[in-house]
Amino acid sequence: MRELVRSAGRIAAQLRDVREQAEALGIFCADRELLECPSCGLVEDVACDGRLMTYKPSDGAIADTGLRFEEADECRYRCPECGTLVAAGASSTHVAEYLTALPPREILQQKLHAAIALSRKRLESRTDTREAT
Ligand SMILES: [Zn+2]
Repeated sequence: MRELVRSAGRIAAQLRDVREQAEALGIFCADRELLECPSCGLVEDVACDGRLMTYKPSDGAIADTGLRFEEADECRYRCPECGTLVAAGASSTHVAEYLTALPPREILQQKLHAAIALSRKRLESRTDTREAT
């Protein structure tokens, strides 16, 4: 169990490193929803190579403007075109979330014990069924 927790901790640290490298390359890491400015219509999107891009659908062409929303505080971003503050999560585009830190050890242990108990129960009921036939 101790080795499992250590391995999980190392993997979480590696994931953080990879994420930082990806962000440095301009790759969208899906840690928030894509933004859309309600004032000027500038939207974020992800190009096929994974890089974050912005464009205005009203312009007709999907071409990266090179502009990027700036993080204003923990949950709002500033539109680079008009300065409007946009709440992260206000967009209708949903991006999956993933864990970047491990839950507390006690919770991991509880989940492991629950999984073992469930597996035992299933195994016992399977054995009971075989004996009955
Ligand atoms: Zn705007």
